[in-house]
Amino acid sequence: MIKKVLIANRGEIAVRILRACKDLGIQTVAVHSTADEDAMHVRLADESVCVGPPQPRESYLNIPAIISAAVISGADAIHPGFGFLSENSTFAHMVEEHGLIFIGPKADHIAMMGDKIMAKKTFARLGLPTTPGSDGAVNDISKALKIADKIGYPVLIKAAAGGGGRGMRIAQTKLDFTEAYETARREAGIAFGNDRVYVEKYLENPRHIEFQIIADKFKNAVHLGERDCSLQRRNQKVWEEALSSVLTPEFRDNFGRKIAKAVGELGYLGVGTLEFLYEKGELYFIEMNTRIQVEHPITEMITGVDIVREQILVADGNKLSFSQDEVEFRGHAIECRINAENPETFIPSAGTITNYHCPGGPGVRVDSALYAGCKIPPYYDSLIAKLIVHGADRRQCLARLRRALSEYVIEGVDTLIPLHLKLVDHPNVIAGNFDIRFLERNFQAG
Ligand code: ADP
Repeated sequence: MIKKVLIANRGEIAVRILRACKDLGIQTVAVHSTADEDAMHVRLADESVCVGPPQPRESYLNIPAIISAAVISGADAIHPGFGFLSENSTFAHMVEEHGLIFIGPKADHIAMMGDKIMAKKTFARLGLPTTPGSDGAVNDISKALKIADKIGYPVLIKAAAGGGGRGMRIAQTKLDFTEAYETARREAGIAFGNDRVYVEKYLENPRHIEFQIIADKFKNAVHLGERDCSLQRRNQKVWEEALSSVLTPEFRDNFGRKIAKAVGELGYLGVGTLEFLYEKGELYFIEMNTRIQVEHPITEMITGVDIVREQILVADGNKLSFSQDEVEFRGHAIECRINAENPETFIPSAGTITNYHCPGGPGVRVDSALYAGCKIPPYYDSLIAKLIVHGADRRQCLARLRRALSEYVIEGVDTLIPLHLKLVDHPNVIAGNFDIRFLERNFQAG
């Protein structure tokens, strides 16, 4: 039985994991860089270990330092959170080699889904619809051109090892193709050390819809419904909703069960998210994330399932505590990502929080590691808080969100709160009428 968990992360997700551990009576070990000595996750943990200097490479990505910290502190499991080492199959493998439990899927599944070509092939074989495109990597420009001609322009050239919205190039017409293809390969080689690329139909105005799944080692896999994460800038999400307003309950039930079945057949363990693009009534699989997602709380709000708790329990060999038939969806939830960024240019903003007031009241949850006086170092992701709001329906949810956003005070750094205040009053957002290009079209985000 897991008695002590080392949390290999920082910020709000480290605090979120800590809370799930405390609820389960599990001891916690925080790791931190020298820039995070006074961070909230360090203060709240039972123990903490400094694993290196500020640069992520030397601290939060420093595998030997993190595994040593787990061994020295007597932890029996490591939770990687998201980002950092969470989708690093070598790390997952090494954790297990040291006799520790990795709170995540098996290393082989992480590696399989980390290769987007393999992921697409796997789910196509298991009967899920995928975006039209090449049947695998295309290493030859003439073959690539033939495929592009066949599926029709515009097309997207994507890196097999891409992630975080990086590693994609669009070719609007045949004339752009050669340059886009060659740039994509070159950039993928430099950024990911792997220049395999594939070609996919570029969908012009899709929505981003993703399904949350969770599976135990007994091959019970369930889905917890979907999230609409269409409000994005630079292919990165800023506002998420559960459920989406475009799927009918029958479609959700059928499609969700199909996904859960596919994941069960793979023998997948733990939480995961299958991402799809939705256009003209069709869903197309694009990738699977093999970790807890930033936006998991909205699913928690509408299902009442503590996903991080379940993730820890299934990693520890337990059976899922509920079945598919017991999953019920109640009301509507929205998450606003509060990034420390300029709300117009999205340039990250580091500094010290000089004043902090957190919203509350019915339906409001804030996941953050903020406090007045805390530092926002320049070295890490700009996500500093998540405002999550639940309502009996979407209308009530939006009203509560408007109220919560207007109460929220974060001074000392720029944040996305002003952008969210505009979004919550935008007629298209109120009507639920948007796709993945909406934000960039309407808010001139770069
Ligand atoms: P990442 O791993 O970088 O998140 P994804 O494959 O999940 O990469 O794509 C990220 C985002 O890029 C999607 O949410 C969508 O906005 C856009 N995108 C990806 N594939 C396509 C496509 N075929 N057509 C149009 N947009 C796409």
